[in-house]
Amino acid sequence: LERLYSFMIRLRLAGGFMTPEQWIALHHIAGENSTGVIKITTRQTIQLHGILKSRVKPTLQAFNEAGLTTLATCGDINRNVICTSNPKESPVHEQVFTIAKQISDLLLPKTNGYYEIWLDAEKLADKQLEEDPLYQDRYMPRKFKIGLAIPPNNDADVLTNDLALIAIVENNELKGFNIAIGGGMSSTHGNPDHYPRLASVLGFVDTEEKVLKAVYEILTIQRDYGNRSDRKLARLKYTVDRLGIEWWKEELEKRCGFTIEKAKPFAFNRRKDHYGWEQNHQGLWNYSVFVENGRVLDDEKVALKTALLEVAETGKANFRFTSNQNVILADISKEDKPVIQEILERFKIIEHTNNPSALRSNAIACVALNTCALALAESQRYLPTLISRIEPLLQKHGLEDEELIMRMSGCPNGCSRPFAAEIAFVGTALGHYNMHLGGDRYGLRLNKLYKESLNESQILSELDSIFGEFKQQRKEGETFGDFANARYVNA
Ligand code: SF4
Repeated sequence: LERLYSFMIRLRLAGGFMTPEQWIALHHIAGENSTGVIKITTRQTIQLHGILKSRVKPTLQAFNEAGLTTLATCGDINRNVICTSNPKESPVHEQVFTIAKQISDLLLPKTNGYYEIWLDAEKLADKQLEEDPLYQDRYMPRKFKIGLAIPPNNDADVLTNDLALIAIVENNELKGFNIAIGGGMSSTHGNPDHYPRLASVLGFVDTEEKVLKAVYEILTIQRDYGNRSDRKLARLKYTVDRLGIEWWKEELEKRCGFTIEKAKPFAFNRRKDHYGWEQNHQGLWNYSVFVENGRVLDDEKVALKTALLEVAETGKANFRFTSNQNVILADISKEDKPVIQEILERFKIIEHTNNPSALRSNAIACVALNTCALALAESQRYLPTLISRIEPLLQKHGLEDEELIMRMSGCPNGCSRPFAAEIAFVGTALGHYNMHLGGDRYGLRLNKLYKESLNESQILSELDSIFGEFKQQRKEGETFGDFANARYVNA
């Protein structure tokens, strides 16, 4: 008898966008083929888990019929391209979203294999070669991640990507992008050679054409110079540290045939989602729904999955996913807003979105146990409980309104971007976590290891005393991350 294999399937959704018709299809595909839980990931897309081997092909075919794809969502290739998700942020949002999509399309592999194997497309003749000028016969040395952000919002946690594009907007006009390279969260416990890193700013390009060319050539440089002998050191961040940012700039200019200008000033002042109703620059309405750890399901607290299906069935709202694992019901006209409001009220989604503490509403956890084979400890199944035990500590010290960024990962691969959080817990073994402190609030500074392999009571005892000191000793306006950085990990 063959083993009962089950799989995870991830969609490719540049910028995290889905029509209501596609959400309806996803709802039913999840119910028929997976555990039924729709997981919004930290990279603005959707994963389904527990798909039995025999259901993989029907799942991919059903997605294809809904105009969705899973092509190039895993492996040594450019992954889902993420971008600032809240359409309220700027009138240039749609422009940046379109560029994210263009980048995603530009970097797709030119393979017919996916279509042949999964979608029963006609097989190419045996001797017919597939030309792929970007990936050629070797793909990338390792996975490749791209993010775009529109300051002042860094909800895309843009510097945690291999390649970060930071929009420069003046007088509501997109002037171009600062390019940063070398971000990535993955690391290994006890191995200093394998470390998290934030992307370094390389320079500025103005036109859309130049942006696409620069992005493409950054991939060709990494394809040609990335480490192919040690997968642990194969991400772009190691190539940047090995060859230096100046070398990268010169090589990029050579391959692009134009000069990369000096980077423009930019500033981030937030990284969280704005829950509830907001009107965008076109007068359309968006409602951001809180989805704890991105898990869309019906449970004893709220029938979120049924409510979102009902919203989709009205056909009056698009679905936009955020890098904080939430969903924005988007592009709703003034006339349609009462219909959506009624559904949100009837299913208590408004209460569900407004109720969580500041800590819970900004927290992120990766999948981990019981579906991720790399997990050393719990994450999404445990973080809600841990938060319920941390909340009274914050209240005790009068810190319940503090907009702390706290994240948990089941292993040091860091899918929830823990090393860019103010407080992070990274699994070392079942029930034990390394505690990291001192990242800044907006994703511009990594945290550092504070204490190793703590259990829950040790975590709570540490936090109790740290919160007490923070309350007593913080300077006016000082964030928790800045305080912890100065006091505990950089003293
Ligand atoms: Fe799995 Fe580790 Fe990623 Fe969590 S951080 S989802 S445990 S690989």
